[in-house]
Amino acid sequence: MGSLNLKSIRKAFGTHEVLKGIDLEVKDGEFVIFVGPSGCGKSTLLRVIAGLEDATSGSVQIDGKEVITTPPAKRGIAMVFQSYALYPHLTVKDNMGLGLKQMGAPRAEVDAKVGKASSMLSLDPYLARRPAELSGGQRQRVAIGRAIVREPKLFLFDEPLSNLDAALRVNTRLEIARLHRSLKATMIYVTHDQVEAMTLADKIVVLNAGQIEQIGSPMELYNKPANVFVAGFIGSPQ
Ligand code: ADP
Ligand code: MG
Repeated sequence: MGSLNLKSIRKAFGTHEVLKGIDLEVKDGEFVIFVGPSGCGKSTLLRVIAGLEDATSGSVQIDGKEVITTPPAKRGIAMVFQSYALYPHLTVKDNMGLGLKQMGAPRAEVDAKVGKASSMLSLDPYLARRPAELSGGQRQRVAIGRAIVREPKLFLFDEPLSNLDAALRVNTRLEIARLHRSLKATMIYVTHDQVEAMTLADKIVVLNAGQIEQIGSPMELYNKPANVFVAGFIGSPQ
C-alpha cells in the first residue's frame, strides 16, 4: 500500500504557472527523489500530493483511488519539513503522539506506537524533554518520529536534512534509509544534495521550471542523461 499516480498536474499562483503538467508513477515501497533548481516547483508538487495545496487541474491517485478532493488528514500521507514545526510547549512524547491523539486513538495505542517509533529512532532518553532542550538533529528525528507514529502509506520529505551539519546529515540519511527498509513504506524526498539523491533513490525525478526533464535510476541518469540540463544536475564529472 502506498502507490502514487499523478496525471497532468498543473498548478498556477495567479498567472504564474508553477507546475506545467506533471505525470508520474511511484510504485508501492519505492524511494523516489525529486531534484531541480530552487523555485522549479518541488515543494509545490509535494504540497499538492499531500493536499496542502489544491492543483489547478489534474489527478492524484493513491493506491488507485482519486484523492484530489480528499482532505490532507485522510490521505494516509505524512510530511516531514526542513523546519521541524514541533510544538515548543509539548514534550517529545506528546509531540510524537499528538496526531494520533487528535484522531481519537486510545491512550494505550498512542503510547505503544510512540514507544515503537521512539526506539526505532533512539529517542527514548529524550521523551520527557521539550524541543528547546534538543539539538537540531534530535529535533529532526522527533519530526520523523511524529510522521512514523501515524503509520502513513506514503512519506513526503522536503529537504529534511538541509538545516543539519555535515556529520548529522550523514547519520540522519542512513537512518532514513534504514527506516525505508524496515517500514517498507513509499518515500518521496526532495533534496539539493547529489550524494543524498544518488545513495537513497530507487528513482530520481529531475524537475525544471515546473516540468519533468527525466525520470530514471541513479545509474541511468548518470550514464545516460537525457540532456545537458540533467547532466549538469546529476553531475557527470567535468
Ligand atoms: P522549490 O521547492 O522547487 O524551490 P517551490 O515549489 O517552493 O519551489 O516554488 C515554485 C514557485 O512557486 C516559486 O516561483 C515560488 O515563488 C512560487 N510559489 C510557491 N508557493 C507560492 C504561493 N503560495 N503563492 C505564490 N507563489 C508561490
Ligand atoms: Mg522547496
